[in-house]
Amino acid sequence: MGAAGLVLSRHKLNTGRLFHQAGATRLILLGTKGGPSLGEGRKNPSTLLLINGAPYVVDCGYGASRQFKAASVAENGPRYIFITHHHADHNLDYGPMIYNAWAAGLPVKVDAYGPPGLSRITRAFFEYTRFDIETRIDDEGRPDLRKLVSVHEFSRPGIVLQNDDVKVTCVQVRHPPIKQAYAYRFDARDRSVVISGDTTYAPELADFARGADVLVHEAMYLPGIETLLKRVPNAARLREHLMASHTTTEDVGRIGARAGVKTLVLSHFVPGDDPSIMDEQWTEGVSKHFSGRIIVGKDLMEI
Ligand SMILES: [Zn+2]
Ligand SMILES: [Zn+2]
Repeated sequence: MGAAGLVLSRHKLNTGRLFHQAGATRLILLGTKGGPSLGEGRKNPSTLLLINGAPYVVDCGYGASRQFKAASVAENGPRYIFITHHHADHNLDYGPMIYNAWAAGLPVKVDAYGPPGLSRITRAFFEYTRFDIETRIDDEGRPDLRKLVSVHEFSRPGIVLQNDDVKVTCVQVRHPPIKQAYAYRFDARDRSVVISGDTTYAPELADFARGADVLVHEAMYLPGIETLLKRVPNAARLREHLMASHTTTEDVGRIGARAGVKTLVLSHFVPGDDPSIMDEQWTEGVSKHFSGRIIVGKDLMEI
């Protein structure tokens, strides 16, 4: 609570406007580990925003559906889902996130947004679960889940969604070989939050995030990568991939400084399963360039 209270009260001071706590925008990290894995510790990437009570979920890595439940801040299932790109550590729990709300008997109406492929993934999931869904419609009298989900694909930067509570925009980031990879910005009435998705150093992301209250950015710790690379046979190519597709902690600091955000939250940690890396090691490189508040993200942490 301390962290959220701090940010909210600081914002109230800045704007002179007051918002009821119930309507305040809440930001909760559901999973913070970059890359797919079944390991102990951090869960795969997923971030929850509660805006005027409605749950907006960005990415659904494996376990996101359980983490959504564990966060226990929403009465219903997700209302809006946003996928940054189609690496499986970002979409493996996309179908289950929707299905589990329906199976739990919650009212379901989901609008899902993401780059091309999301419609096909949605159809494929409903094919995968067709027997179960059709059985439960006939046998238990449930509504047809397939009619409760609307998919909205986009393939260029711009406005993704706009309603009375929030404007959601996206910008293309640098995550080769994937071209259709995006960051999202949520401009709610009381707070602006940007979520980087997966990207290497991208100044255009900093410009996109300019003036936001919070930037949640992926982070890669180079000394930890050296340890990781020693364990794998194709080290040279893996190093190239990681360097081309993810952002070192020092560069995260540069992005935060250029964006001029108040708070920089580190998430999507690479490596995300090395308990020998302390919080101070994650922040050390960032703080060389960024003088605002730095938060080392943890699963189920509220900011
Ligand atoms: Zn990832
Ligand atoms: Zn990725």
